Amino acid sequence: MNLTRAGEIICDAVLTLAYPQICVICGRSVEQRRFGVACESCWMGTRIFTDDDEICSKCGAPGPPACGRCEVLAFTTARAVGSYKGALRESALMLKRRPHVPLHIADLLVAAALREPLSLSTRVVPVPLHPKRLRTRGFNQATVIAETVSKTLELPLDEVSLDRVSSPEKYRAGLDVKGRRDTVAGAFKVTHPRLVSGEDILLVDDVFTTGATVSACAEVLLEAGAKSVFVLTLARA
Ligand SMILES: [Zn+2]
Ligand SMILES: [Zn+2]
Repeated sequence: MNLTRAGEIICDAVLTLAYPQICVICGRSVEQRRFGVACESCWMGTRIFTDDDEICSKCGAPGPPACGRCEVLAFTTARAVGSYKGALRESALMLKRRPHVPLHIADLLVAAALREPLSLSTRVVPVPLHPKRLRTRGFNQATVIAETVSKTLELPLDEVSLDRVSSPEKYRAGLDVKGRRDTVAGAFKVTHPRLVSGEDILLVDDVFTTGATVSACAEVLLEAGAKSVFVLTLARA
């Protein structure tokens, strides 16, 4: 254990004593700050993907090795820490309000990033937030996640190469994969192709829903010469 990590754990214990936290799911107390907004038992009840899970080898959907729905998506491979339910859902929602990744989530993200083929990544790129939304929120939650991963994996964090250009995608319930894809098509552009060319990009976002957003990002990154685009999200809806 390194010193920073030991310090974080001690700091965690002190904070937990000073500011008891209530689990947003069950209302019991969160024993350790490292678990964030949910208690350990709610984390135990949250599905975290492991090596033993049967998933689509491309998009990571639970089920058979080829889900039959992701051929149109441009990324190389996508993986998530777990399902968008329970503690992961609450943590993803909290990340939109507070730019902080609790230790337990950081550990889960790093474990997912260290599995093949994501472990081949050479550069970490967060999915950019639209500038207007960035101004109202004050931070991009994808960047906060990407920072955590890049720091631990000692990979460069690249917030400059990929830009969001069109207006924020309007979330329209009931849109199918193609409909969602159309709303984000052309929403991204690579501003520094030299930085991504020949790289294995780890593209980071908070939640994978239809994959349309990360696919639109992957498309322009690959066009700009990226060797592959691996997607890592906190949760998969
Ligand atoms: Zn709980
Ligand atoms: Zn798939």
